[in-house]
Amino acid sequence: MGLDARVPCRCWVDGLTPEPPIARPLLEYASGHLCVLGSHGQTRDEQIAMDNALNAWLKTCCPHPNLEYCVDRVGNWPAVRLFSEYASRFDDGRLVLLRNLMPACNGGQVESADAQRCLDELDVMRTLVEGRTAYFLSDAITGEEVRQYVAAYGGLITMTPSFSSGFDPDGLFVKNPDEVFRAMRVSQRVIGDGQGTLEWVGDNGARFVGVKLGLGIGDGDREWQVTSRPLVWADVPCVEPLTRLLRASVEIDMPVYWW
Ligand SMILES: [Zn+2]
Repeated sequence: MGLDARVPCRCWVDGLTPEPPIARPLLEYASGHLCVLGSHGQTRDEQIAMDNALNAWLKTCCPHPNLEYCVDRVGNWPAVRLFSEYASRFDDGRLVLLRNLMPACNGGQVESADAQRCLDELDVMRTLVEGRTAYFLSDAITGEEVRQYVAAYGGLITMTPSFSSGFDPDGLFVKNPDEVFRAMRVSQRVIGDGQGTLEWVGDNGARFVGVKLGLGIGDGDREWQVTSRPLVWADVPCVEPLTRLLRASVEIDMPVYWW
């Protein structure tokens, strides 16, 4: 689950490919995809044969397999949301395109005319992000930053029928639905009933017992701590694939399609 994107090559739109194996009136080119139209009275077997013939041709019809100039995974959905959150939270009025760049679901496009502006805004965003404070759920023993705080989710990580849990700048919390637990540092212990029940004990004496308290990232004995530090550009997810896709779009004047 996540967001992918592609920049189609220009070979089909510029007429640089050899003649396809399917008559052109039976083909449709949309969103950078070439496919066989399904409404010309073909039988199912004929349709499959035509699809196969076209797909085989697409692999070698130009230097870019499947007419794709650049294909990349942008990120999983939490990463995509975190990118948008940074763009919104730190926007000083100059991240006009970036704050709404990411789609809410798979689909849509970025016009090549906007791609260079997005690249310019990424340069601005870097100066706005670096040095700002970020919050992490960290392993208190190893210091490993396990998860970054996502304000868009309210810090929520786990939702069960009986409680929800997560962390924010003020600590790990459990809500039921009102807050029943909060602590900056938590000792997590497995309770011996074999049902995956965990106990949280905070450094302030707070205590909560529940199944799936492990936040999906550590269901054994753990020591959790909320930590903070200044952000560096590498903390912002999706930037590298996004940059590759936008540059490709600018380079050949074709849109970026989300999928
Ligand atoms: Zn091509």
